[in-house]
Amino acid sequence: MIYLHIPFCKQKCSYCNFHFSTSFRGKDDMLQALKKELRLRKDELENKTLKSLYFGGGTPSVLTGDEIKGLFDEILKYYSFADDIEITLETNPDDLDAAFVKELASTPVNRLSVGTQSFFDEDLKLMNRAHNASEADASIKRAQDFGFENISIDLIYGSPTSSLVMWKENLNRAVALEVPHISSYALTVEPKTALENWVRTQKITAPAEEEQNEEFYYMCDFLKNNGFEHYEISNFAKPGFHSRHNAAYWQYEPYLGIGPSAHSYDGGSRRSWNIANNALYVKNLEAARLPAESEILKEKDRFNELLMIGLRTVWGVDMKKLNDSFNPEIVHRFSLDVESKINEGILRVKDNRLVIPEEHWFMADGIASDLFII
Ligand code: SF4
Repeated sequence: MIYLHIPFCKQKCSYCNFHFSTSFRGKDDMLQALKKELRLRKDELENKTLKSLYFGGGTPSVLTGDEIKGLFDEILKYYSFADDIEITLETNPDDLDAAFVKELASTPVNRLSVGTQSFFDEDLKLMNRAHNASEADASIKRAQDFGFENISIDLIYGSPTSSLVMWKENLNRAVALEVPHISSYALTVEPKTALENWVRTQKITAPAEEEQNEEFYYMCDFLKNNGFEHYEISNFAKPGFHSRHNAAYWQYEPYLGIGPSAHSYDGGSRRSWNIANNALYVKNLEAARLPAESEILKEKDRFNELLMIGLRTVWGVDMKKLNDSFNPEIVHRFSLDVESKINEGILRVKDNRLVIPEEHWFMADGIASDLFII
């Protein structure tokens, strides 16, 4: 599978610490550099038939239809697409006007991830999103009118501008739109963001954990009652609409990450990541150099990652895989900790898989890190 990072956004959302630029001046050079990286790394993936292709960012929907088609042309020089390939493009509601959606519908993109976040203007203003509440709604309907069925929307809960009543309404609106996939995250105060600055200078109050907790569990019940499977802490899908791209990450399949800040994984113990700087990325590619660093994961790092990722999902961690793939001493130490957590009811073994019961999912990262091998 391939991930393509499009590092441009119209404006900076107040909570975001991803890599992107709000200046589009270098867009053409960036597109050339992305194509060059695809060419230089064309032999890295053994499997030349792609099951998943993901345009993420940044905001890939700031590209024109022709620019997206140009990237497809380059990709198709080196790979073919599996019949059931999932091709996702992240979009923002303000970009999804009729002309752009029509263009998109003429490309191989077959899944849209829409950065809706909220259907309330007060939330969107605090988040400094480029769209308003009416665009949030209209953009999804428009995409559906042009034939996109496989749509995921992102929603953020726990904003200081929101309340449980508003959150319930957000979920009602999402369900009424009949989208088959929802990704939902708690508003988090990340370092070096406007949100952090506002909290520090007491311009706003920090998101309250108790409220986030309440909204999270309300969402779990509500979406389950509306036909969604809660398959990962932050992800809910109607049957047959799990994100295959994310599922492949969680199952440790190899992937190629193209673009500034993109990460790659060889399926074994090597990870690499590109430089998170647009100008330097382009400059290096112009000189046919790959601006990447890499690391070889130690056994304990692989073990801890497997726990961290697996315990966030409904599939949990495969105990047989742990026993078969890791040093028995590591597995033994881990088993002792697991036993006490099972006695506390925080962990459960189901079909030889270690899972966190859903009622403890809000604390999953803490539970997994308690089990880390250090
Ligand atoms: S559009 Fe997405 S990537 Fe861009 S600033 Fe907002 S949250 Fe971050």
